[in-house]
Amino acid sequence: MAGDTPSRRAVLTGLAALPVATAAVAAERKERKPKKRKPARPKIQHVDVAIIGAGVFGAWTAWHLLRAGKSVRLFDAYGAGHWRASSGGESRVIRMGYGADTIYSEMAKESLAYWKDLSDTASLPIFHNTGVLWFAPQGDTYTAQSRAWLQANRVDHDHGDVHWLQKNWRQIQFYQGETGILEKDCGALIAGRGVQEVIADAQIEVERVVMPAPLIAKKIRKHTLPDGGTADHLVYACGPWLAELFPQQLMGKIVATRQEVYHFGAPQGDTRFTPAELPVWADFNNGRIVYGIPDLEGAGFKIAIDVHGPVVDPDTQDRAPTPAGIAEARAYIAQRFPGLTDAPLIGARVCQYENSSNGDYLIDRLPGQERIWLVGGGSGHGFKNGPAVGKRVAAHILDPALPVEPRFSYATKGAVAARTVF
Ligand SMILES: Cc1cc2nc3c(=O)[nH]c(=O)nc-3n(C[C@H](O)[C@H](O)[C@H](O)COP(=O)(O)OP(=O)(O)OC[C@H]3O[C@@H](n4cnc5c(N)ncnc54)[C@H](O)[C@@H]3O)c2cc1C
Repeated sequence: MAGDTPSRRAVLTGLAALPVATAAVAAERKERKPKKRKPARPKIQHVDVAIIGAGVFGAWTAWHLLRAGKSVRLFDAYGAGHWRASSGGESRVIRMGYGADTIYSEMAKESLAYWKDLSDTASLPIFHNTGVLWFAPQGDTYTAQSRAWLQANRVDHDHGDVHWLQKNWRQIQFYQGETGILEKDCGALIAGRGVQEVIADAQIEVERVVMPAPLIAKKIRKHTLPDGGTADHLVYACGPWLAELFPQQLMGKIVATRQEVYHFGAPQGDTRFTPAELPVWADFNNGRIVYGIPDLEGAGFKIAIDVHGPVVDPDTQDRAPTPAGIAEARAYIAQRFPGLTDAPLIGARVCQYENSSNGDYLIDRLPGQERIWLVGGGSGHGFKNGPAVGKRVAAHILDPALPVEPRFSYATKGAVAARTVF
């Protein structure tokens, strides 16, 4: 375009203004034939560990390994914390009460400290300390066990009967005989942005590559990567894609199910559903757990029903929410949150859980392979524990003699017909 091109006069005037020597050099440069550039050779790189999958598990594994001084490459087919990943989207619950599953309470406690540190140094918050309120019918064992752990571990919490619940949260309709626990130190994590922040903090680039399953050989010392680089160890943290990469070992053992979440908008000026007045909440709802997150960062009142949907393919599943799912959420809201009965749906997200048979994570070697790790099976409750999972994977790589936790072993993963917890 004429307007963008300096006129010949302007160039000459500019040159005249340069010192004579500089102008001469410039003229000489102009005369020289341009050098033929050699095509850039791909960098052949050797690293200690190549991680496949930049979801919450892969990101925190990279973070811990880099902190321990290991060299790492991190690959992802779509990029970090993307929309199809189980770690994508806006928010996740972090709580410590896990009934008798104290292994997860401990992981959550450990992970919370990492998330808080990350959040404190990030430009925008990753952790929102809203508190987490559980409510259930009186005598619920899971609640009693969770409370016992919180007490034994001196984790700050309140608890009370239906009068205490109703007095503190008037925007929720409670039922006779219900009891509740408020985990004061917990709350919600920002999901996709959180994963990207972990990666930024680790100072590693995500390489956008679709990685194949590894070559399996008995005495393999170095694993070859698609660009000719090599790695001593491979970590496959591929979430709902894990079984398709390792069908022989994992088909039917890690199963992706469709999950929908909905966001409803409170009337303008109504602050009852903001974090200032409403914590993250979870209703045992006679075994059909329903949970929600207050209006964080303007995303509206989030609600999800924690029941497995149909089995899906994370690459191709359609992400439009179903009218039946929206209607079920609305019916629940009308009973429990009457102030939102007519609230508009302002957003929705369709994701997937990557379920193991009993909800336990998978952190183990690929059978027969010393240096290939399978990490996944988040089963609807993996996000919060990303830091602890990554730390454990890193510990295994740093110390090959470290025994695998039986709960996370490949051997304990059966065919899926699973429960989920979040
Ligand atoms: C609706 C919903 C609500 C949830 N709520 C909670 C909650 O409240 N609290 C909680 O703790 N957890 C929650 N979870 C669970 C949690 O989000 C997941 O367990 C966790 O994010 C799983 O992380 P991941 O790293 O294993 O998998 P992902 O995040 O899916 O990451 C796997 C990555 O691997 C990449 N990949 C796969 N195959 C390849 C390949 N061949 N080459 C290169 N890259 C590849 C993918 O692109 C992807 O980015 C929820 C999940 C959903 C869906």
